[in-house]
Amino acid sequence: MQPGFIGSEIYRLPVFKPPHPLAVPRAMLVRDLCDALGWLAPGQYIDSPLATAAELGQFHDAAYVAALFRAEAEQDLPEALRQQYRIGADANIIHPAVYRRPATSAGGAMLAARLTADGGVVQAPGVGSHHGQPARASGFCFVNDVVLGMMQWQALGLRRIVYLDLDAHHGDGVEAAFADDPDVLTISVHEAGRWPRSGTASKPAQGIWNFPVPAGFNDSELAWLMENSILPVIRAQAPEAIWMLPGADALAGDPLAKLQLSNQAIWDALAKVRPLARRLVVAGGGGYNPYLLARCWSGIWAGLNGLAIPETLPPAAESVLRAVEYFRAAGRNPPEYWMNTLRDAPNPGPVRDAVKRLGEQA
Ligand SMILES: [Zn+2]
Repeated sequence: MQPGFIGSEIYRLPVFKPPHPLAVPRAMLVRDLCDALGWLAPGQYIDSPLATAAELGQFHDAAYVAALFRAEAEQDLPEALRQQYRIGADANIIHPAVYRRPATSAGGAMLAARLTADGGVVQAPGVGSHHGQPARASGFCFVNDVVLGMMQWQALGLRRIVYLDLDAHHGDGVEAAFADDPDVLTISVHEAGRWPRSGTASKPAQGIWNFPVPAGFNDSELAWLMENSILPVIRAQAPEAIWMLPGADALAGDPLAKLQLSNQAIWDALAKVRPLARRLVVAGGGGYNPYLLARCWSGIWAGLNGLAIPETLPPAAESVLRAVEYFRAAGRNPPEYWMNTLRDAPNPGPVRDAVKRLGEQA
């Protein structure tokens, strides 16, 4: 099976307004960039189905799902429900697709699991709401699509599953969902001290591995952690399937975090992980600079398909990036390489003791 790319036109709806961090093009910008590069062969792009309320109920409380549906229908929610469910609270705004958009991501995640049931690779950049809780919205995440996708693998009979989360924020919702299942390893590399401030320690007996890394985390440090800790932990599990959340907010230049990876570091990590299981889903996750996100995740698609990344982008691909609207100061005069290249300059550096100490736990 050729790799599949799952997306949806629903991600194009401008439901978030500046200064909300998600008021930038994301999943479908990746699709457009790959398309402009001629990287989507016929049949590779797959439209995401909408998960049913019953499917969402496999992880979420029925009353919470009903409240989310009501929030979209009425574009409002009574104060008591806002407080209880955090829908229309914090930065989890009520918007015109507040039910359909996360239900589409959940449907895409579950489809990704089904498509890879007998082996294969799927990239689903619209999937990745790793903070979602059974009965609470959290961190812009209304539905935990990742958990629902991994549960679909389990429903298909898979047991030994690895979740690898390189997003700058701790994958707390996924960790909690599988904390009682030692057959599912959840591994999260995230910035220490950053929201949600969990993920400070590993619990190997429960299959929970956390690497809270210091600000400035560089390419050499990620490669060191992969070689010395993360890959050995994954190999020991002999996983039947791997769900990777690359994120794009650990990249240097993301406005919400202080990690300093180049996109090559994430591509290299993925290349090392890919041979370790017959089934791989690469989701999306955070990432709030659309240029960095689109370049990183399009490069992931190239890697999954064995496509060569050009040193400078052809005009059609460059136009896709030139048309991006990015409301932050960095978007007023974006550097040329954000628009005419895909590959970042590598960002090597010393492997600090704080990182080595994290590695020694494995
Ligand atoms: Zn994040």
